[in-house]
Amino acid sequence: MKINFILGLILLCLFGLTISSCFKWAARAHDKLPDTTALNKSYNYQGKVIIVGAGAAGLAAAKVLEQNNIDYTILEASDRYGGRLKKDTTLADFPIDIGAEWIHSAPIVLNKLKGKAGDQIEEELIPYHLEETYNWDGQQYEKVSQAQNDFMYKFMPESKFKNSTWYDFVNENIAKEVKHKIEFNSPVTAINYSEEKVQVKTKDGTIHTADKVLVTVSIGVLKSNHITFTPDLSKERKDAINSIIFHPGFKLVMKFREKFYPDAINWTVDSGEKVFYDIAFKKEAQSNILGFLATGESVEAYYKLESEKAIVQSIIAELDKIYNGKASESYTGEYILENWGQHQFTMGTWTQAFQEKKSELKILNQPLDKKVYFAGEINDTYQQMGVPGAILSGYHSIDKLLTGQE
Ligand SMILES: Cc1cc2nc3c(=O)[nH]c(=O)nc-3n(C[C@H](O)[C@H](O)[C@H](O)COP(=O)(O)OP(=O)(O)OC[C@H]3O[C@@H](n4cnc5c(N)ncnc54)[C@H](O)[C@@H]3O)c2cc1C
Repeated sequence: MKINFILGLILLCLFGLTISSCFKWAARAHDKLPDTTALNKSYNYQGKVIIVGAGAAGLAAAKVLEQNNIDYTILEASDRYGGRLKKDTTLADFPIDIGAEWIHSAPIVLNKLKGKAGDQIEEELIPYHLEETYNWDGQQYEKVSQAQNDFMYKFMPESKFKNSTWYDFVNENIAKEVKHKIEFNSPVTAINYSEEKVQVKTKDGTIHTADKVLVTVSIGVLKSNHITFTPDLSKERKDAINSIIFHPGFKLVMKFREKFYPDAINWTVDSGEKVFYDIAFKKEAQSNILGFLATGESVEAYYKLESEKAIVQSIIAELDKIYNGKASESYTGEYILENWGQHQFTMGTWTQAFQEKKSELKILNQPLDKKVYFAGEINDTYQQMGVPGAILSGYHSIDKLLTGQE
């Protein structure tokens, strides 16, 4: 009896520990955040640095170089900066994130990303605590209980910007100071680090020379071998790159005359995600904007359709099935579809470092001959992932580059 009681107590404690560590992980808790970053340090580096990619990670690294008057250039493949951060102001009466949208980390992360001290954040956020959600498996439409929604919020207390976007945050706090150093339409095709100086070749044949290079392209771009390295990457590193899950996917944003849908509808899928969600949730907006996010295997069926319009039509038809034709009746015909999975400079949606092997992540973080360094969402060592992870990796990797660490 006594033994049973003690065993029960031990099991209860173990259960409690597991649950509390899950909660900590899910909140991307602030105890995982660094106290200071490269933004709070000063550097006296005399060489030239090239940053490949002007997404959140590349821009963040550039901010450190700018603050320390270090010679650098950012080579960006596309004609814009932000990478997987993008906003639209044409469809609704509020700005819409076409790429990253939620703050999955504890809100204090915003201060860390700006290099600002203190616990008070300046941004106005919406707690993403959903009230009316449903599950849909293609046949059954079932309401999710409030207790389940409450649990989800406690387990993963996410938030969203109230009147702005992730793009605005990065633009205002990071890009503004460094955008004059970006060379747009300059896709890097080759990096040669066999000599003392590193040679970086862009698609038009131009060779740029630097002492050190920071590569911030997505894992999808690295998988595609769009950039060749001399000497070649080791088999160990190629295997690590190929082992990382980077689902294809797209975000569709549709405008309706009426709001006939709830906060969110989760679609049961085997891999990745499929979800409809009210983008205007708690935004105090007049526009009715419904988002559809699809990643993983379920995306293949959409990619097989002959056009973007056909994809939108099939999704409206799916909604009609749930709501007896209300979607077609109310649809204004206005939409934005951003196909990140097939975009040549992204080639996927996002990574989730917690589901990858630590040993592979370590290999991806190692520089090549202390000359070519890597940053980007997958290189985040603070377990934040997404935009915060990308920015923190930019600060962390540029610190390693400037101080010559492995
Ligand atoms: C649909 C979607 C929804 C998301 N939702 C969220 C969310 O809610 N919250 C969150 O935190 N995160 C979210 N994410 C993930 C988040 O957007 C990324 O983690 C983050 O933006 C990655 O930044 P990065 O700098 O590492 O990479 P990227 O943004 O991919 O930047 C890489 C840059 O390199 C450039 N580039 C590529 N190839 C070359 C080349 N050969 N030469 C030169 N330049 C090159 C690209 O054009 C790009 O500008 C989402 C992503 C997607 C796609």
